[in-house]
Amino acid sequence: MTEVVVIGGGIAGAAVALELVERGVAVNVVDAERPGAAATGASAGMLAPQYESPGRSPLFDLLVQSRDHFPDFAARLEALSGHSLPVRWPGMLVANVSAEETEAARDAVRWQEEAGQPSEIVSPEEADGLQSGINQGVDSFVWLPREGLVDSQALAEVLPEALTATDVRLITGRQVVEIMRSAGRVSGVRLADGRSLDADVVVVAAGAWSDGIKGLPRSLPVKPVRGHLLRFPPGEAPLQRVLASHAGRYIVPRDDGSMLAGSTMDYVGFDRSLSEEGMKTVHRSATELLPALATAEAVERWADLRPISTDGLPVIGPDPEVKGLHYATGYGRNGILLAPLAGRVVAELITEGASPTDWRPFSADRL
Ligand SMILES: Cc1cc2nc3c(=O)[nH]c(=O)nc-3n(C[C@H](O)[C@H](O)[C@H](O)COP(=O)(O)OP(=O)(O)OC[C@H]3O[C@@H](n4cnc5c(N)ncnc54)[C@H](O)[C@@H]3O)c2cc1C
Repeated sequence: MTEVVVIGGGIAGAAVALELVERGVAVNVVDAERPGAAATGASAGMLAPQYESPGRSPLFDLLVQSRDHFPDFAARLEALSGHSLPVRWPGMLVANVSAEETEAARDAVRWQEEAGQPSEIVSPEEADGLQSGINQGVDSFVWLPREGLVDSQALAEVLPEALTATDVRLITGRQVVEIMRSAGRVSGVRLADGRSLDADVVVVAAGAWSDGIKGLPRSLPVKPVRGHLLRFPPGEAPLQRVLASHAGRYIVPRDDGSMLAGSTMDYVGFDRSLSEEGMKTVHRSATELLPALATAEAVERWADLRPISTDGLPVIGPDPEVKGLHYATGYGRNGILLAPLAGRVVAELITEGASPTDWRPFSADRL
């Protein structure tokens, strides 16, 4: 029987593990902390392939497929853990602050409509009908009715419970320092405490830390990029939609009425601490979307590291040279959205050597 070690129990590794165990594979998930404790639990949880997409591309198509797949994944986590995992489809309003942004957005609306994904330009007055209290001082908004979100803080709680409800062996608080190889294939992993685990297959799903593991046959183009999130208490008018700007800032509603505002893109290495400047930027940008937040005080704040690849694409599937080595990393700003489908693809490639999903544009062959 194939023995698999998945390095990392964030949503990327957990999704691979859940797909593998369903296929009868023996899976060990090793996490230096606790599944969900890093970028996964720190994220805003938007399920938004249309937002920020620069044009029709294999990645856009994969992200749209991922959005369709997400409800099945969430239902599986709920069934396994016995806890609810809120997923909603409230749609998203993206502010076009100037006539130039509106003009650029018209192009995006056109190609997204052609790709079968609804998208339209609405006036500030029309946007106010979709979300009261929204900034009326902008030129227009893009309305993306299919975009959704998951409560990613709930996701971080549910993930380890779902894993432990299966036959996955979950090893937490242990860091993998090296991937071991013998005769051109993987043979296991070495842990920081000196112990080792034998394996026929090793999956690198260590998020922003993926490139730091010894024994990789190639350098992975995955870098840490820090992002801040602030939680604001419920306002007078409930937030019903996801609000966003083209500068990558957004506000997302939570089921308890609170609002998460994000985020920054900080190139500060592996520093996961909060910066005063980052928090101020997020608050200011949130106010530009929802002016009532100007006087609101954040009740919670955090920051963590996204695994961003230098070419903007995830790294999915087998290593072209080392047998038994697979990648599930570099998911960037859309990792929550992408991980469930990517996890299925990686599991199919491990067990069947093929996947019906077009994963080739994201393969490690390009590295
Ligand atoms: C502020 C912020 C907002 C975000 N918003 C969104 C959003 O709205 N929508 C969206 O889709 N995505 C969003 N993302 C991105 C998303 O969170 C990530 O792409 C996704 O969580 C990556 O999952 P992962 O499992 O690869 O990484 P992580 O969740 O970081 O998990 C990696 C795991 O690997 C473990 N690990 C690392 N090194 C080792 C090692 N050597 N040995 C053992 N374990 C190891 C870590 O402990 C960690 O648990 C956001 C991210 C941030 C930071």
